[in-house]
Amino acid sequence: MIKPKNKEEIEIMRESALIVSKTLGMLAKEVKPGVTTLQLDKLAEEFIRDHGAIPGFLGLYDFPNTLCVSPNSQVVHGIPNNTPLEEGDILSIDCGALKNEFYGDHAYTFAVGEILPETQKLLDITKESLYVGIREFKAGNRVGDVGFAIQKFTEDHGYGVVRELVGHGLGKKMHEDPEMPNYGRRGRGKKFVEGMVVAIEPMTNMGTHKIKQHRDGWTITTLDNKPSAHFEHDVAIVDGKPELLSTFQYIYEALGIQSNEEDEFRKQPLVL
Ligand code: MG
Ligand code: MG
Repeated sequence: MIKPKNKEEIEIMRESALIVSKTLGMLAKEVKPGVTTLQLDKLAEEFIRDHGAIPGFLGLYDFPNTLCVSPNSQVVHGIPNNTPLEEGDILSIDCGALKNEFYGDHAYTFAVGEILPETQKLLDITKESLYVGIREFKAGNRVGDVGFAIQKFTEDHGYGVVRELVGHGLGKKMHEDPEMPNYGRRGRGKKFVEGMVVAIEPMTNMGTHKIKQHRDGWTITTLDNKPSAHFEHDVAIVDGKPELLSTFQYIYEALGIQSNEEDEFRKQPLVL
């Protein structure tokens, strides 16, 4: 059942989302060759608790850590470990936080030092596909409209759209209705209404869309071992239109990047 949120609840959710946004911004400076994902995980857990929230993934479905960290050919749900990152890697970091009973949940794929131009293009197109999808998340549209838009944009660039993992409604539970696949057919699926909050999260493979699940029960990699990227935002429908609750601006500030990509999804300028 879809549970739309009222204005107050959306403001509470914005706070939870921004704690995750700030956590990813803090991590942006730490993602570099030689650092281990377990070190990043510890920093993130401390940071989230210091902001009066609790890590959203820790213990959820028995997940053992604060961050899902998925380098290179890993798609999502990777478990932090002691392997140092290397120059040229990419690292998807997915993070959740729970505060005032509501969850924030979003993800960004970072470059570790210098990466190949073709890998950078995968990151750029995957992030752009996220905004292509968000543009369709408005009152009266349906789940299939978002999925269709993301799939078409992604496949037009020759990339594979992961089928087995999807975005989702967000609220007092990390995963609420509806499921938000990154593929689909226009006009199909549940209808979007005012106050809905979802996490839209394209997972895009450079090669085949097919994946394999590892024996640890969590790690998922591409079947052809080519890289995979993951970008996720938390979005509400306010006055019929998509409004971002999360932001990548803390990441951009840390990395010295200028971007106005979020402006169309924000009523008021974000104050960092
Ligand atoms: Mg996530
Ligand atoms: Mg999610």
